[in-house]
Amino acid sequence: MKAPVRVVVTGAAGQISYSLLFRIAAGEMLGKDQPVILQMLEITPALNALKGVAMELDDCAFPLLAGMVCTDDANVAFKDADYALLVGARPRGPGMERKDLLAANAAIFSVQGKAINDHASRDIKVLVVGNPANTNALIAQRNAPDINPRQFTAMTRLDHNRAMTQLAQKTGKTINDVKKLTIWGNHSSTQYPDIHQTLVDGTDAISLIDQAWYEGDFIPTVQQRGAAIIEARGASSAASAANAAIFHMRDWALGTEAGDWVSMGVYSDGSYGIQEGLIYSFPCVCKDGDWEVVQGVEINEFSREKMTATETELAEERDAVADLLP
Ligand code: NDP
Repeated sequence: MKAPVRVVVTGAAGQISYSLLFRIAAGEMLGKDQPVILQMLEITPALNALKGVAMELDDCAFPLLAGMVCTDDANVAFKDADYALLVGARPRGPGMERKDLLAANAAIFSVQGKAINDHASRDIKVLVVGNPANTNALIAQRNAPDINPRQFTAMTRLDHNRAMTQLAQKTGKTINDVKKLTIWGNHSSTQYPDIHQTLVDGTDAISLIDQAWYEGDFIPTVQQRGAAIIEARGASSAASAANAAIFHMRDWALGTEAGDWVSMGVYSDGSYGIQEGLIYSFPCVCKDGDWEVVQGVEINEFSREKMTATETELAEERDAVADLLP
């Protein structure tokens, strides 16, 4: 058996974490031979609820669960951390403007970025789930100057999974037949689900559907799926968000499938003309615990316009928190 690794989950008493922690402890994220120590962070008022979650984790008697830490201190939570899933974030309250939401989250994610810088493993892999995820990831990254910026990522895998399912259902195929789909940009309603390179059972997806469905149905359905789930369920998606977080980390740590790619919000190096330093979702392949942006994807005029719109939104979010960035 391997030596245990330390996995931080923040917002650990929340809904997403309730679907996430048990699967991590069962080995679904890092493999059935990888013991984990769960280091769970919550705000002080939620510590009692977190204690209940820890009791349930105990009661599962997971063979791979090598230890647990429950704390409201980021400096304790991130100590020697190898992986971090930043789920806890400030939800939008009544009358709250986008700028207020960004500022409230900037306060949370700057503290966590500093704690990562001061206490985590130098090889830590960070995934931000809490919204606005891309900008929260940027804030954490900018507060951790001693950690390689490539180690901070934001989740667009749920959007990727949603898009794969919509396309599989439309074409009468299964999820296993859908390859090379891309979510570009921000995890928000400006995201751009691109199927121009996508193959469905080996055939170009774009030849199987018509442009009216792509623009008028597929893209808005993927962009607004979160709201549709809230309306149907009376609560936001939690299990599917947790599942996407597991897939993102699993693929980053253990590698993506040959002949396919995934969507990840990552530090832009200027690929595809996207401003350097933004956390932008690109097509990525992962190998040996590292990711790289897939190069050479052809960008037509339709795609460029949508990629630029979501880039502009991310630049505006970054500028709105500029005073709070070191
Ligand atoms: P959830 O667990 O449902 O959601 C947590 C975050 O994930 C939210 O920012 C949410 O964004 C985001 N998210 C990203 N993708 C999705 C998706 N597809 N569907 C739904 N949510 C998504 O929230 P809870 O309120 O149940 O739990 C949050 C917990 O975080 C609370 O226990 C709170 O105490 C804690 N918290 C902890 C902090 C810390 O550890 N320092 C700081 C702040 C809060 P959106 O709001 O847009 O739905």
